[in-house]
Amino acid sequence: MRTSADSADSAVFVPHFHWDREWYEPFQVFRHRLVAALDTVLETAEANPDFRFTVDGQMAAIEDYLEMRPGSRDRIAALVAGGQLAIGPWLILLDEFLCSGETIVRNLRMGWEAAAELGGPMPVGYLPDMFGHVAQMPQILARAGFEHAALWRGVPGSVEGHAFRWRAPDGSEVRTEFLFDGYDNGLDVLLVPDRIGRALGEYARMTADRWGGDPVLAMAGTDHNAPDARLTQWLRRASSDERAITVATLDEYIREHVRDEVSAVVTGELRSHVRGNILPGVLSVRLGLKQRMAVAERTVDHAERANALWSRRDDSPFLSVAWHKIIESTAHDSVVGSGTDETCDQVDARLAEAAQTARAVRDAALAEVAALVPGDGHLVANPLPFARTAAVEVDVVAPPEGGALVATAADGSTHPVQLISPGPHRTQRRDDGRRAARTGAAPDPPP
Ligand SMILES: [Zn+2]
Repeated sequence: MRTSADSADSAVFVPHFHWDREWYEPFQVFRHRLVAALDTVLETAEANPDFRFTVDGQMAAIEDYLEMRPGSRDRIAALVAGGQLAIGPWLILLDEFLCSGETIVRNLRMGWEAAAELGGPMPVGYLPDMFGHVAQMPQILARAGFEHAALWRGVPGSVEGHAFRWRAPDGSEVRTEFLFDGYDNGLDVLLVPDRIGRALGEYARMTADRWGGDPVLAMAGTDHNAPDARLTQWLRRASSDERAITVATLDEYIREHVRDEVSAVVTGELRSHVRGNILPGVLSVRLGLKQRMAVAERTVDHAERANALWSRRDDSPFLSVAWHKIIESTAHDSVVGSGTDETCDQVDARLAEAAQTARAVRDAALAEVAALVPGDGHLVANPLPFARTAAVEVDVVAPPEGGALVATAADGSTHPVQLISPGPHRTQRRDDGRRAARTGAAPDPPP
């Protein structure tokens, strides 16, 4: 049943901030501001039960905060339980084009798990500032159990309302809230606290065609700033019979205030510039970062399989660290290369660490099986989840004069061999003092 607050003459304010973890300042500089901002948010929420705050859809902000304020964990959990704080579901607000599909899924999973430990994630695939969106995102969200997304950039001009059904190539759909004026559309309305009612009226009239019978969504926040602690006080004063004002989390707006059926459907990738720049240059700037991302992703992928298939060690803590560092680096101002040089240096080092951690896990797993191979044999490991035939290149000791090279597998089967090139004649002293050929035509004669 529609209430008076659910009409075109009402508005819902969603206090939030957008937190680029690193960008024109490196991570630690922004984190110092983050801690101050979240201090303010927690104090405001605790002093005012009507206050709500949506933490930018990413758990990285909470993790980074708690590292400096470990004593605030219970405070955050209490605010989440009370419905005042909406956290997650992502670990970080990623660039969707510059990482693998597996990384996107891991991002959601790690964010979800971290939020669950504090009371539960916001069940909205919030993607406020990404530079366009991949076609499979509705599929990923739907498979994870999400019914809703919310985003700004990339939506085509054919969407005339404030929501659409976003469909993936496989037919999966999520109802998507279209932040057509960006994620800070409520800020101008708040510029003069005594004139909020009037400014809101003007904005509601200007955008009336977008809202239909639904209340105006006013996203009250922007980059790297906590909302003013007096926000709910101002809004209470501005609320009137003519236009009721509610303060909510983004999840509450979508699931409790919106009523209109959504008819517009958009299928696939979102890369339109019509309502927001999608900064296409970021796909190629600072190419080295993109290459290092790909290397790190593939190395951890191989390491995870090698560890699962061949190792008796539990290396999951190492793999989690590697994944975390990769996911951190997918932030939409990190791997894209839109940050300063010192930010990019840090992304570069983080990706290198991820690849090194993964390489250590992979090599340790391979060493376990390699130890079972006879001294005159070679280990050939296939990290793919299916059997395959492939050429393998190895250095072998040359057979005696006139002998033929033969490759015999562990099951006794023989395989064709091609000599690519003879190696240099190289000798090396054995532990027992005898000299033997490692590669080359023949061993030295005994002394
Ligand atoms: Zn951003």
